Amino acid sequence: MNRFAQLDHQYIWHPFTQMRDWLGREPMVISSGKGVVLRDVNGRDYLDANSSIWTNLHGHNHPKINAAIRRQLGKISHSSALGFANEPASLLAEKLIEIANCELRIAKAKTASVRSHSPFEIRHPKLSKVFFSDDGSTAMEVALKLAYEFTRRTRGKGAKPKFLSLEGAYHGDTVGAVSAGHIDLFHKAYAGLLFKTDKVMAPYCYRCPFNRAKPERADAREYRKCNWECTGLAEKKFAAQKKRGNPYAALIFEPLMQGSAGMIPQPRGWLGQVTDIARNHGALLIADEVMTGFGRTGLTGDDVRSVSSKEKSKSEPPYVGSNENSLFAGQQEKVQPDFLCVAKGLTGGYLPMAATLTTQNVFDAFLGEYAEFKTFFHGHSFTGNQLGAAAALASLEILRTEKSVRQRAALQKNLQAGLQTLWSLPKVGDIRQVGLVAGIELVKDWRTRKPFSLGERAGIRVCEAMARRGVLTRPIGNVIVLMPPYGTTAEQTAKIFSALRHSLQSVLG
Ligand code: PMP
Repeated sequence: MNRFAQLDHQYIWHPFTQMRDWLGREPMVISSGKGVVLRDVNGRDYLDANSSIWTNLHGHNHPKINAAIRRQLGKISHSSALGFANEPASLLAEKLIEIANCELRIAKAKTASVRSHSPFEIRHPKLSKVFFSDDGSTAMEVALKLAYEFTRRTRGKGAKPKFLSLEGAYHGDTVGAVSAGHIDLFHKAYAGLLFKTDKVMAPYCYRCPFNRAKPERADAREYRKCNWECTGLAEKKFAAQKKRGNPYAALIFEPLMQGSAGMIPQPRGWLGQVTDIARNHGALLIADEVMTGFGRTGLTGDDVRSVSSKEKSKSEPPYVGSNENSLFAGQQEKVQPDFLCVAKGLTGGYLPMAATLTTQNVFDAFLGEYAEFKTFFHGHSFTGNQLGAAAALASLEILRTEKSVRQRAALQKNLQAGLQTLWSLPKVGDIRQVGLVAGIELVKDWRTRKPFSLGERAGIRVCEAMARRGVLTRPIGNVIVLMPPYGTTAEQTAKIFSALRHSLQSVLG
């Protein structure tokens, strides 16, 4: 066995991994990466079809991000944000505020000829402050603590702020983030450690008890037959809690698609409706864009069209503003939260860094004389880390380029085309694409939606077979996830689908 594999077996405990299985076979040791390709110590190449657990945006070893990190290394790697400011963190905070606010984007869009749809309706407060942390979980912890304390301070000290999150929610593995989650397999064992949160039905059209449609060979969102009972239930939930005299402090949600729940997408309109309900009941909005942020949920129809038309007439100026249109999923439904949590792709997937963006209103509630002790007593050693911030600035620059917009538009279309070819397979029950993310739910029989039991390890076995064909991804139960980096070419996308199709046929028949 390779020496690093041996050391790994001897010393390392892997996340979300049954270590008995892990120790039963030689692990793949990754030695390098370039673009979409990961190479192992034996010199074998693999396509990174889940962007190294949803983190990587522009590919590995990107010259611009490498150069930005190197430049920063030559100055300083880290100084504390407890007591000091620093250059890249200040610049990054400014950029994040710029792209996170729909309002600012409208101002820009007005100068852009490519904008055609009506301006965003701004009924949500502006995000104006950035609190840096280390990863998705800590970004969520910050939002939870801030929302909790803000509610206590604005509703009175006797208030007992309560949170509402979605069925199947996953927001990280620290105790606060787990409290906001509702995946029994991950969370139940720790119930004794957690604070109580409520859950409300999330739209999972494929398995929704209110969907009266028979299974079809299409995304269940398209052929569902229902009366939006899910939004009705949300209204009821908020109303009931208000009746109890303690309206919910905040609604916590992943916009457009719930990732770890199994790549579960929301039908168009759900997000806008449910966040309106929350607002009408005085709840804050906490958007977890750890997975969905930085363009992962794709370009909107208008943007894709504008890219195509520009391809035809190269003489026109580049699509000013259009590449910023959909950097955050919530923006596609004009939802601006009070807390926007980002991580994973923030640094292009190069370094662990996260941020919680919030409003002036929330910030102001923590202002006071020193001796009033209104300070937000929270912070991590690596808050505002210079290397991470330098990587993030470079990543945001890349996202703005015409090349990146073009790549994302092409990948979105290529994924869509590849996914269509999977409907002919009987073990494919539902295919769910949101922009550059896709989940393929495997079932025993598509006509009955009968699921595989988790013990059958259907998703794991298919992904193992894909790895043998040179494509790496990780399933969520019976859902195969495809989320390759933005620069994935048409040929590479075709290879991913070929590996998936052959693996499905060989493993499940
Ligand atoms: N929120 C979401 C939506 C996530 O997908 C994840 C991680 N998969 C997290 C939070 C936690 O992020 P991290 O693993 O960086 O702590």
